[in-house]
Amino acid sequence: MKKNQLATTLVHADRKLNSPQFGGVHEASNNSVLFDFEDVADLEAVFQGKKAGHVYSRSSSSSAASLQNILSELDGGIAATVFATGMAAISATFYSLLRAGDHIIVSQYLFGNTRSFFDQLTHFSIDVSYVDVSDASNVANAIKDNTKIVFCETIANPNTQVADLYKIGDYCVQHKLLFVLDNTMTPSVMFNAHSVKANLLTTSLTKYVAGHGNVLGGALIDLGNFDWRTYANIDEFYKGADSSMWGSIQIRKKGLRDMGATLAPHSAHLVSVGLETLSMRMQKTSENALTIAEFLSKNVYIRKVNYPGLLSHPQHALASQVFAGKAGYGGILSFELNPDVDMRGFLNKLNLILRATHLGDTRTLALPVASTIFYENGPEKRAEMGISDTLIRLSVGIEDVGDLIDDIANALH
Ligand SMILES: *Cc1c(COP(=O)(O)O)cnc(C)c1O
Repeated sequence: MKKNQLATTLVHADRKLNSPQFGGVHEASNNSVLFDFEDVADLEAVFQGKKAGHVYSRSSSSSAASLQNILSELDGGIAATVFATGMAAISATFYSLLRAGDHIIVSQYLFGNTRSFFDQLTHFSIDVSYVDVSDASNVANAIKDNTKIVFCETIANPNTQVADLYKIGDYCVQHKLLFVLDNTMTPSVMFNAHSVKANLLTTSLTKYVAGHGNVLGGALIDLGNFDWRTYANIDEFYKGADSSMWGSIQIRKKGLRDMGATLAPHSAHLVSVGLETLSMRMQKTSENALTIAEFLSKNVYIRKVNYPGLLSHPQHALASQVFAGKAGYGGILSFELNPDVDMRGFLNKLNLILRATHLGDTRTLALPVASTIFYENGPEKRAEMGISDTLIRLSVGIEDVGDLIDDIANALH
């Protein structure tokens, strides 16, 4: 699939990739938990992975499989696995692929719940090094003999640090480390994960992919460029003839089937409907975010604006290279007001912009982050992540940008 056909592919994907019955333009949302077989030999073959099919919808369903086909195609992968939420995709991946005694290198700038999850892993004798991934030499310096995985986000939330993606990808190839990338902030329409040699993508479908604040979901995508034969933790049982599938099979068995955070069939349907407009939404969101970032950076009440599309952003050049020619720099920005401006007063005066958590929605959302999503991380970890007490995150939506700017300007007065 050529990238310039992405918007077209998105609109027709469910119909073309999944061939729904009766000429439907959507795959049916099939709620059956169990599946009947005429011949018990077929039931056995499906159970044993020798034949395609579904036996119990915690492990797989036609609705989930259809969404997986679309997601894998969009990112140029070999397999996608969907989960109930983005956190489920992340936790299932790491619990499936790690063993006690392993070491992983993880970005110190992470979505708060992801950080909390990695802190939890340390209680299972997993050694975690948190590093500043905006400079790949920090990753290189952290590599140990027992390092298995490097994990980061493309653009970190809320401070928009861009990971040193090309170099991290090169180090991972050189040291045969698995490079797992959370591309929630930069879905396939604005970022080609193959270009930075990422191996696995974790994504919150809840955000831009579904886009409308009405469904939770997550995905793990195997880009097919990692040699699983070099990875020590694959169970003998999952080593089938096609070694490119070893990782996905283990994650589907140990992570999805055994941990059980399955994406419901109707949710899979809602995500695939949202996906149809991803390209348009991402473009409008990015365009709006850049306009707002420029407005804020010139405003006398604002001390600092973080947005990769601004020339002043420390990784602007890298962001332009990695995301160039696609759909801009994404929809997340954050900013700090001058110390004499009342942050809560400003937020309460917003009329159109919602005071709400979540991101990647059609609506613009504002959130004070230190006291909410990063509250539990405590002051020390917040300082390490560069989260100041008065930082506001804006997840920019697809409204008319003039209305958004008016709302912000009014609230600043
Ligand atoms: C929201 C988010 C997640 C978790 O996704 P859920 O669907 O809410 O579980 C993971 N990573 C990033 C970067 C996110 O923004």
